[in-house]
Amino acid sequence: AALVARRASARARWRRAVALLREFEEGCATPPARLRQVVDAMVVEMHAGLASDGGSKLKMLLTFVDALPNGYGPPRFLTAALAWNEEGIYYSIDLGGTNFRVLRVEVGSGSVINQKVEQQLIPEELAKGTTEDLFNFVALALKSFLEREDGQDVKKALGFTFSFPVRQNSVSSGSLIRWTKGFSIGDMVGKDVAQCLNDALARCGLDVRVTALVNDTTGTLALGHYYDEDTVAAVIIGSGTNACYIERTDAIIKCQGLLTNSGGMVVNMEWGNFWSSHLPRTPYDISLDDETQNRNDQGFEKMISGMYLGEIARLVLHRMAQESDVFGDASDSLSNPFILSTLFLAAIREDDSPDLSEVRRILQEHLKIPDAPLKTRRLVVKVCDIVTRRAACLAAAGIAGILKKLGRDGSGVASSGGSGRATRGQLRRTAVAIEGGLYQGYPVFREYLDEALVEILGEEVARSVTLRVTEDGSGVGAALLAAVHSSNRQQQGG
Ligand code: BGC
Ligand code: MG
Repeated sequence: AALVARRASARARWRRAVALLREFEEGCATPPARLRQVVDAMVVEMHAGLASDGGSKLKMLLTFVDALPNGYGPPRFLTAALAWNEEGIYYSIDLGGTNFRVLRVEVGSGSVINQKVEQQLIPEELAKGTTEDLFNFVALALKSFLEREDGQDVKKALGFTFSFPVRQNSVSSGSLIRWTKGFSIGDMVGKDVAQCLNDALARCGLDVRVTALVNDTTGTLALGHYYDEDTVAAVIIGSGTNACYIERTDAIIKCQGLLTNSGGMVVNMEWGNFWSSHLPRTPYDISLDDETQNRNDQGFEKMISGMYLGEIARLVLHRMAQESDVFGDASDSLSNPFILSTLFLAAIREDDSPDLSEVRRILQEHLKIPDAPLKTRRLVVKVCDIVTRRAACLAAAGIAGILKKLGRDGSGVASSGGSGRATRGQLRRTAVAIEGGLYQGYPVFREYLDEALVEILGEEVARSVTLRVTEDGSGVGAALLAAVHSSNRQQQGG
């Protein structure tokens, strides 16, 4: 009788775990109708953010980048043409995700001849220390890189990719609005980011100055556009997430009278902070938000990016462990915030072995859960799948929102009816540059994103959209922009 009772209660506990799974799955559901609501909300918020400062959680920040390089001649941007004859060697620094990079880019007659990238992890204590420590670290890294490379003939122009929200005053200056992605250096908020770096460069005796201060999205767009002139937007899906795109200056209402040669400007959306009641939010998202330093901010980012996906899954598994003992006694480790990194989440979801041996290994080695039976391992995979799918679908909705704002979502094109040919003639090819560790390192994520784009846009329109991965675009693009803007300055200065 005791055995029967034990079995019955084990079954009941398993049912509880499955019920939690179903509940989570429903909470995360992203059917096409809901994704379209998110697309429309994104467009509405884009308009609101362009209309006034503070008009939306979408900041829609000016970048003052009004010309983008292309590889086949003078940089053109909409209709503008600026001189693009600045041959030479440019450096850039890329700070703001998990990795820190120093880059050297050699430009000759309008093309990238050579590039070199050095990468290291940002020491964790620097992300929470002082402004001086952080920028000394950056400046010294550049200094030793220059010394190892050809420091002498370096152009005195530096591209600085700083992947946080910045209110720009010009293409080469701007102040930090707030930190994201776990960085928190209190005395830095409100300071001019380029000035901080310039000061540190001077302190270590380097005669180099920032001529282009750019968000990583802007750098990625610059390199994407360099390779493919149809590139109108760039998206980052890494530790954090964000997008930028080319907007007409007359649509940037909050900045009346803004004039550029091209009639356009790159706008940094800061879409990580997008919010809408249509987003599929679960109680786990609220718990996650409570754990972060930037509560109530970056709501979209917290559903999409690499910093958070593993943690959402961890919160779900933890609740299952508490309410159903599917993980046995050894589930204490699940109560540690951020113990399940997004790298593991991806590895779990990508495990296609019949006995889920990789899942078993990760559970054992990293979560200290030995001997989880196959059906429990399947449950874990399912949780990771749900988290991944929702993230990828929402990112796709964001991209579709930009395309819609630009009139490139096919909605302006008359429905083809019997004559598909006319429709196709009107669809313009559109390229979007994409970068970020999560997107580049996680094939299932990419598949889900592609599928969702087809669901939202329809097959024909989706086919007109090319998502193109740029390698180190955020940094290389910044070096190209530094080149463009150093030559501008020389022209203007005579
Ligand atoms: C930052 C953005 C950045 C994105 C991707 C976000 O947390 O606010 O400025 O572009 O991460 O790195
Ligand atoms: Mg980055």
